[in-house]
Amino acid sequence: MTGALQSIKISDHSILNFQGKMLAWYDRNRRIIPWRAAKGEIPDPYHVWLSEIMCQQTTVPAVVPYFLKFIKLWPSVHDLAKADKDDIMREWAGLGYYARARNLHKCAQVIAFERGGVFPRSKAELLTLPGIGDYTAAAIMAIAFSQPETVVDGNIERIMARVYAIQDPLPQSKPRLKSAAATFFTPDLERPGDFAQSLMDLGSGVCTPKSPKCMLCPVNEHCEAYALGIAEQLPARSAKPEKPQKFGYVYWALNEAGEVLCHKRPDSEMLGGMIGLPTSAWIEKTEGAQPEHIDFIGSDSLSVSGDLVKHSFTHFDLTLNIVQVNGLTAPAPLDFFWVRRSDINPAHYPTLFKKVVSLCLKR
Ligand code: SF4
Repeated sequence: MTGALQSIKISDHSILNFQGKMLAWYDRNRRIIPWRAAKGEIPDPYHVWLSEIMCQQTTVPAVVPYFLKFIKLWPSVHDLAKADKDDIMREWAGLGYYARARNLHKCAQVIAFERGGVFPRSKAELLTLPGIGDYTAAAIMAIAFSQPETVVDGNIERIMARVYAIQDPLPQSKPRLKSAAATFFTPDLERPGDFAQSLMDLGSGVCTPKSPKCMLCPVNEHCEAYALGIAEQLPARSAKPEKPQKFGYVYWALNEAGEVLCHKRPDSEMLGGMIGLPTSAWIEKTEGAQPEHIDFIGSDSLSVSGDLVKHSFTHFDLTLNIVQVNGLTAPAPLDFFWVRRSDINPAHYPTLFKKVVSLCLKR
């Protein structure tokens, strides 16, 4: 292999050898994960799709309990399509990136109601479905339908950066890393799904971001970064710009019956479709900036507690100041509703509000 991908001639023998070693290693070391078909079993496209959507930006251990819960509640794509969207959102709470759950429901409805419950078997058709992008389409094609589509997740990017000693930083190097991965997803690749999953498992347990276990690696003889002693330095990453800091108020608002005011967030906003607590607008921290309290909560009845809840989103960090409101009499506007305190379950809220609810329930 070589550091200058464009100029290297990778021999067919090296490619075949790499593929064969990875598959043999996978047969001995594959992770047991609930959505994976056992050896010799045909994968269920519903399980492959559901798990791939859940695993976007999320680790396998975090996904496992959600996956098991979802297939128990909705064992088939038809069941999921017929489910109430609010139930799906509630069960997704805590997994993050909530647009995934909204698209999951839409996609299930297309598959169940327009395609007779059958997942398309071409990448181009998969890409037309809600919530399915290039990576997910390739993963479904490889894992569910055994087609040699090039699958590139974060683990595979790291392995490619190391095997080819690609030193350009991420994210600019993504196209090059994909070209590198494509050299292994050849048309004659045997067991493309197992091969893709072998790379995912190698990245998870051997070719780890820190301290890769190169001595145990089945393809170390093909790895240029290992030969050069620079494995741990790759992949390089461009410096991330500092995240904006935002802040606002979150209301623990009680009526005279002691019920708590909750809010179903609009689909167009962050955490859209999820149940949360009322908040002010979230504004960027700048000198003199001050969020305004929401209109229907009279400023007489509130007291700013000083308790802060911090949460980090992908593109900004948020600090919410908890405001206690007692004996609220104003009628709840559309999408706001009262919940008995005893019925409030922190697990049904996205993580930001789970933190607030857990804190307020302890008071
Ligand atoms: Fe990763 Fe090391 Fe294997 Fe190279 S030799 S692929 S760096 S584990």
